Amino acid sequence: MKRWQGRRFSLMTFVIRDRKIIDTLKIMTKQGFTLLELLLVISIILAIISLIIGLVLISLNITRKIHCANNLRQIYLATKIYEEEFGAPPWFPKHFVTWKPEYASLLICLSDPYQGNLLKDIHDPKAFIPHSYFFNYWNDYHFVRLPRKNIHGPKEFTEKMLKQFWYELTAPDGHWFVCPWHSLAVFPDGRVGRARRYTGADFENPENKLR
Ligand SMILES: [Zn+2]
Repeated sequence: MKRWQGRRFSLMTFVIRDRKIIDTLKIMTKQGFTLLELLLVISIILAIISLIIGLVLISLNITRKIHCANNLRQIYLATKIYEEEFGAPPWFPKHFVTWKPEYASLLICLSDPYQGNLLKDIHDPKAFIPHSYFFNYWNDYHFVRLPRKNIHGPKEFTEKMLKQFWYELTAPDGHWFVCPWHSLAVFPDGRVGRARRYTGADFENPENKLR
């Protein structure tokens, strides 16, 4: 036992004789992690966080789209009841909401960045009801029944507009109600599906939808 005296030992010295391994272990325990290991851990954590954020955003978008499709379907069904009561669909959102004030929230799409207020400055501010959708069926139904002399504007434009309105009202794929933010439409049979003719840009410039 004499030859061990005066020297300091640790358990490691007995287990690992190799000097290089001992040095490496000493560095690792002193520094905790090497830079490479730290970067690797950070990048894995960032990847996991971005994956979680992505999944949350996707599920949020899906939820909003389902909500929107439900709104459109409810508007379609409510319009049927309105027609039974009054013999014709409403002209404008204000007629619809005056009839059932609790339906005002049906007119807003959660993904509409303007939350239904985009056309506020164009319409009569007092009669304005925030809405995110195109109500082709309501407008077109009444518009095509107007006497021609009451429709002002260039004849060519009016004819093009009336043709478009008739199509939306009568064709099997006529877009009765449309969400331009989700490109969703309600067709005459009450089915909700992908809108083929309208986008958010059409809402920002309503003349686009007559192209
Ligand atoms: Zn929508």
